[in-house]
Amino acid sequence: MGRPGFVVIAGPCAVESREGLLATAHAAREAGAAMLRGGAFKPRTSPRSFQGLGRDGLAFLAEARVATGLPIVTELLDVRHADDVAEVADVVQIGARNMAHPPLLREAAQTGLPVLLKRGFGATLEELLDAAEYVLAEGNDHVILVERGIRTFGDATRFTLDLAAVPVLRSRTHLPIIVDPSHAAGDARWVPDLARAAAAVGADGIMVESHHAPSEARSDGAQALTHGELAELVATIDPILAAVGRVRRTPGAPLPAPTAGVGDPVGA
Ligand code: PEP
Ligand code: MN
Repeated sequence: MGRPGFVVIAGPCAVESREGLLATAHAAREAGAAMLRGGAFKPRTSPRSFQGLGRDGLAFLAEARVATGLPIVTELLDVRHADDVAEVADVVQIGARNMAHPPLLREAAQTGLPVLLKRGFGATLEELLDAAEYVLAEGNDHVILVERGIRTFGDATRFTLDLAAVPVLRSRTHLPIIVDPSHAAGDARWVPDLARAAAAVGADGIMVESHHAPSEARSDGAQALTHGELAELVATIDPILAAVGRVRRTPGAPLPAPTAGVGDPVGA
């Protein structure tokens, strides 16, 4: 049996306005994204940076889901927000800065929703898999692992995308593995090539930031693709998927059912 369709998750780093989000949501759908991302609660490195619209942002995400039919991926960063986030999210994101925070992992697991778990930028793959175990231990076996770049001495990009993580994780676990080229690159110019590399190396999908006006974005604008760049990227991924025997999941297709736990490599 082949692996499930390659999923493109796209959307702004942060939900900034109703109109902006709806514009990007429609553009993501037209480009071929199967899910919409957008943070309402943002884990910013500096407390002086924009922290997100909070519950207003969640309301805009709910509206975007109705308008486009795209399922929503949004971050949970505080156990106190779990009920509000779970009401709107189809997939709960745990950010890199919180990967190793067991109370939050348990809370995310208890929503019963799939948990998209981002690798901490100082975390080994073993530590990522251990974090996934916290979710599985709550009886939630729908965890999606995300490679989003790690900290190395390389400073030409924001982080260093560890593409080798994909085949290595594949050998260790049955869980889907997604690559986020946006946070790794930190610069929109490098995102398309890294995204295509992710498709070639066997990832189950990509999560890409896109914005209606990147230069005006309140967070991560430098790494955001324009709507046009997003559409172009998705079109160029399809031949690569064909070459590696994969197809892209089309918008509206249901999420794949959970398969097995961390300790069950593919083919085991
Ligand atoms: C994000 O997805 O916008 C984000 C904050 O990512 P990370 O947790 O990987 O830094
Ligand atoms: Mn971001």
